[in-house]
Amino acid sequence: MAGLLRSGSTRINISQKFYFNIYLLPICLKLYFAKEDIIVPADGNGILSNISLMEETVMSQLANIKETAYWMDPHPTPKNYANKALPEKTDVLVIGSGYTGTVSALQLKKAGVDVTIIDKARIGSEASGKNGGMALAGLGVSLHKGMKKFGKDKMVRFFNESLDSVDCVERLVEEGNIDCHFGRTGFMEAAFRLDHLDGMKEEQALFAKELNHTIHIVTPEKIHDEIGSDFYHGAIIEPKSAGLHPAKYIAGLIRMADEAGVDIHEYVDAVKIEKLHGKLRVTTSRGVIIADRIVLGTNGYTTNVSPWQMRRVVPVESFMIATEELPPEVAIPLIPNNRMISDSKRFLFYFRLSPDGKRLLFGGRPKQFWKPTLDKAKEMRKDMLSVYPQLAKYSIDYCWYGKVCFTPDRFPIIGERGGINYAMGYCGHGVAMATYFGFKLADMILGKGLDTAFAERKPLPIPFYNGKPWFLPVAHTYFRFLDYINK
Ligand SMILES: Cc1cc2nc3c(=O)[nH]c(=O)nc-3n(C[C@H](O)[C@H](O)[C@H](O)COP(=O)(O)OP(=O)(O)OC[C@H]3O[C@@H](n4cnc5c(N)ncnc54)[C@H](O)[C@@H]3O)c2cc1C
Repeated sequence: MAGLLRSGSTRINISQKFYFNIYLLPICLKLYFAKEDIIVPADGNGILSNISLMEETVMSQLANIKETAYWMDPHPTPKNYANKALPEKTDVLVIGSGYTGTVSALQLKKAGVDVTIIDKARIGSEASGKNGGMALAGLGVSLHKGMKKFGKDKMVRFFNESLDSVDCVERLVEEGNIDCHFGRTGFMEAAFRLDHLDGMKEEQALFAKELNHTIHIVTPEKIHDEIGSDFYHGAIIEPKSAGLHPAKYIAGLIRMADEAGVDIHEYVDAVKIEKLHGKLRVTTSRGVIIADRIVLGTNGYTTNVSPWQMRRVVPVESFMIATEELPPEVAIPLIPNNRMISDSKRFLFYFRLSPDGKRLLFGGRPKQFWKPTLDKAKEMRKDMLSVYPQLAKYSIDYCWYGKVCFTPDRFPIIGERGGINYAMGYCGHGVAMATYFGFKLADMILGKGLDTAFAERKPLPIPFYNGKPWFLPVAHTYFRFLDYINK
């Protein structure tokens, strides 16, 4: 999950880059193999330095943990889409049953197109069913940085489309009467360092001037109105962003697609795509399907079935934990205004209350991600306690992870190549953006063109990369280290 405005954390100056090249690489490699976490919890008041829980206590608080997404216990799609007879041919074959695939299938079917969805997993159960449920306005890049790179006009278009994307989610929720707790509670990016707040103030001024869009600053004096933690030094709030229950949202979209007549199949893996007499021949784990067009909605799960797309995006694991049900007097003050929150670190945390307000759901990227899930949950809990030490005595009930998908410039990609219509690389903003691009893919196939500023960039392959992100461990350690030294 990337931050909304990325106002503070984008500031890597020249000297930092120089030090990295000369001195930090060996240190990072050493830390990468070290046992201890390099984010040392520390706040101005010394509260966090008092956290010294015995290993036994920690383990007892993880004793009943379920390695399943809180959102999918139970799975909100009651219907079974496995083992149905596959069609021999279809107008459009949608690969992937997340927001991208399902929204595009629904829109195409409504326009009278014959559509089939296949997914290699249980329907809607990957990232779209287990994310943080934050439908964010904004991009993974600050307005300031984006304007420098793309110019003012294009950046304004990007941002306005991100606002539209949240509206798209709201419209679909209303249209399908989807009970997924959608609410415009606003998104807060919390300042990890005091000078990140300066960057946030500059962003606020830019948003007002260039976009006529109001975002609010939370000063250090007022931070406790928004969060029951001493970890942060202020914040910025974007009020149009929303929270929802992601698994109920995708389950609702799948129900809508099903009712509209989309042919849906789960546990069917697309393994090969070939051109055949102007059509596409897709070999799946259960047989061959001939399609006129393909929608590729595989995002962080993209493989060499579509090598061109695979070389342009990087899958990154994101991990979440959910606490046990907390007493109201503990839960509500954690996030009194029920915001969706992430912070301005490079290696950011993101967190929110569950829709019933009883649990804290906390996400990020644990160090040493090759370790077993339970060890990662332990790391994640430590990160959670660095923000909320008051939760030390409460258990963790759930832990899970999924794949987010990044592009080198942190902007999603959308387009068509050889009959494959693709959209991916949402950089942690896919709840709203994948929904929006689902509409855009359908428009493109229906011959209405591709009316989005995001299609005007040419997605470039990542050098020396064949789908295995070998560079991530060192990059992770480097960014965690920078967060540590810059605290
Ligand atoms: C833990 C976590 C937290 C997140 N939090 C947020 C958040 O709070 N806000 C936000 O905006 N974004 C968040 N994201 C990102 C967001 O969930 C994604 O951007 C979004 O769900 C992407 O939707 P999608 O439909 O493109 O892909 P996905 O939902 O990932 O679906 C892709 C599907 O393609 C299928 N597939 C892949 N290859 C094949 C194949 N060969 N054959 C058949 N099927 C295939 C997969 O099984 C999968 O079901 C989070 C992600 C994770 C993992």
